[in-house]
Amino acid sequence: MPQASKETKTSSCDDENCPFHGSLSIRGTTLTGKVVSDKMHKNVVVQIDFLQHFPKYKRYGRKRSKIHAHNPPCIGAAKGDNVKITECRPLSKTVSFVVVRKTGGV
Ligand SMILES: [Zn+2]
Repeated sequence: MPQASKETKTSSCDDENCPFHGSLSIRGTTLTGKVVSDKMHKNVVVQIDFLQHFPKYKRYGRKRSKIHAHNPPCIGAAKGDNVKITECRPLSKTVSFVVVRKTGGV
């Protein structure tokens, strides 16, 4: 997203796969979720809660999914953070999203 590149933080990093300081371009879907694991090196697992409509019952059901996302050192999202993630090129077998910013605590 174009406005994400304007949110460049004052801190810098030398991560090539950082959307602000590296050469990684971001495009596609933007999602917000909560970090449920930060055990991987420079990667986090983000849980997305959303409502899915079931037309047969005319109701919404709660669904959740987990997405692996790259976590650049200049953002440094930790477990429990709410983050905004944006799609990028596939960085590994399971990672094709990158954390672009934190969106407040809890
Ligand atoms: Zn960076």
